[in-house]
Amino acid sequence: MQRYFANIDNNYFVHLNPDDEHHVSHVMRMKKNDEIEVVNEGKVFLCRIEDFNPLRIVAIHEMENDVELKEDITLLFALTKGDKIDLVIQKATELGVKKVALIESERTVVTYQDKDQEKKLARFNRIMKEASEQSHRLVVPTLLGIYNLKRLPKEAFSDLNYVAYEKDAHDTDSIFSKVTKGKSVSILIGPEGGFSEQEIARLVEQGFIRTSLGKRILRAETAAIYALSVLGYILEK
Ligand code: SAH
Repeated sequence: MQRYFANIDNNYFVHLNPDDEHHVSHVMRMKKNDEIEVVNEGKVFLCRIEDFNPLRIVAIHEMENDVELKEDITLLFALTKGDKIDLVIQKATELGVKKVALIESERTVVTYQDKDQEKKLARFNRIMKEASEQSHRLVVPTLLGIYNLKRLPKEAFSDLNYVAYEKDAHDTDSIFSKVTKGKSVSILIGPEGGFSEQEIARLVEQGFIRTSLGKRILRAETAAIYALSVLGYILEK
């Protein structure tokens, strides 16, 4: 069933945003009495379309739903070229991430001008909302923003903080070795050029734990998807 994030008022009326109204009426070409799922404040409701022009959708009852990872996962992803971030943000959402921050480091080659930044962040938020709907999640991940590696915000840190370091690739025993149920996890992935040794030393001083992501060197976007898949496996099994 199609799922949307929307507000449900005290009279059980559903208020979709204009893009989603368009989606219901003109993309999905729904009919009267068709049903949709609506997520409001972390709860999912079965809703029925009662009328068009104007669109009237009513919540019928709350549905059972338990798809979120119990432990919060935060992805810290270095700014990479082109539309890789679009891909990573979409896949990270499907894989259950709760927070994402984009990171500038010594070897990142991409920077956004201020004007651009707002547009990009709005685009990333839209991608996360659509991916959350598609993967039937109850929350849209939070995009923390863009930060320099030297000035990570408090919200970027979890109970366990990992940095994926390409020079540890062979040390496969290190792969998320301390991750257990009940602990939140942050994972930091470097840019195309990797991390410098000073950066790694500074991160370790701050409490980051180095991890391999397997013996092969992955592209940054694959590394993010791999890391989140492994974390999901450990935490959900
Ligand atoms: N240019 C570097 C590779 C960078 S890969 C080199 O050739 O060595 C981009 C990022 O993905 C890395 O900074 C790291 O965070 C992550 N990564 C990729 N493969 C990895 C692996 N096998 N183990 C740990 N981290 C990895």
